[in-house]
Amino acid sequence: MKTLKTLAIGALIISASATAQGRFDKVEIKTTKLSEQIYMLQGAGGNIGVSVGEDGVFVIDDQFAPLSEKILTAIKALSDKPLRFLVNTHFHGDHTGGNENMAEAGATIIAHDNVKKRLESKQRDGNYNPKEALPVITFNDKLSITINNESVAVFHAANAHTDGDALLYFTQSNVLHTGDTYFNSRYPYIDLNSGGSVQGYIEAVRKGLMVIDENTKIIPGHGQVSNLKEYKKFLNMLETIRDKTQKAIDNGKTEDEVKADSSITETYDTLGYGSGFINSEKMRETFYKSLTATKS
Ligand SMILES: [Zn+2]
Repeated sequence: MKTLKTLAIGALIISASATAQGRFDKVEIKTTKLSEQIYMLQGAGGNIGVSVGEDGVFVIDDQFAPLSEKILTAIKALSDKPLRFLVNTHFHGDHTGGNENMAEAGATIIAHDNVKKRLESKQRDGNYNPKEALPVITFNDKLSITINNESVAVFHAANAHTDGDALLYFTQSNVLHTGDTYFNSRYPYIDLNSGGSVQGYIEAVRKGLMVIDENTKIIPGHGQVSNLKEYKKFLNMLETIRDKTQKAIDNGKTEDEVKADSSITETYDTLGYGSGFINSEKMRETFYKSLTATKS
């Protein structure tokens, strides 16, 4: 009886993972060189940052579990040194899905305290994450990692995309990884149900801007490699839409009215900001909800 049950569960797991694998079969990992030792990897999900050098490999985010093998192969092509550390910029599955596999490949996982809390309590297919998928080292404000002859400043932005966001700045390579506190040329997803907020999101971009200059290469959470000019434009977009939404709220507009009022976002709709995951209506809805939420 026990054997039969185990077999049935085994078959179930295999078929479930085969379906998950199917979605990623055609995904190819694209590698972009940003500096002597920093690379960006793109597949499906959040952009991955990689630092390679004499100390080993340091990775930021890991997309989805079915892509781990391809990601590790792409990393191997850059360095044969051991995988040392992995930082999760936040808890979302398209940035942490490969955690267990990366830990198995040797990485020590680092993240903000709230990333660990959320990964611990989150269930996937009815199961809790195994402990291997959880961060081993957590921090609440900032952390510095010295690897491959440079210091990497890891800093938290409170209540931005989620309640556990980290941005990372490579001080010698002059590369910033923003996690999902920046979607290049797109409206951002602000996860209000996981502690994100419009005001915190804007503050996160301001924090990022404080450490960079006109030569910095920026790895956004999603989208192509970016720079200071585009990042400032993104901040401008956020502040403009926040101000217009706030004005509508002050004028007594309801959520439905704000959702329907395309004049709030039209300048940026025209530029294609609403063509990604978050369309212009969703953007206005999120801004309304966040700006009217009672502050705790
Ligand atoms: Zn995210």
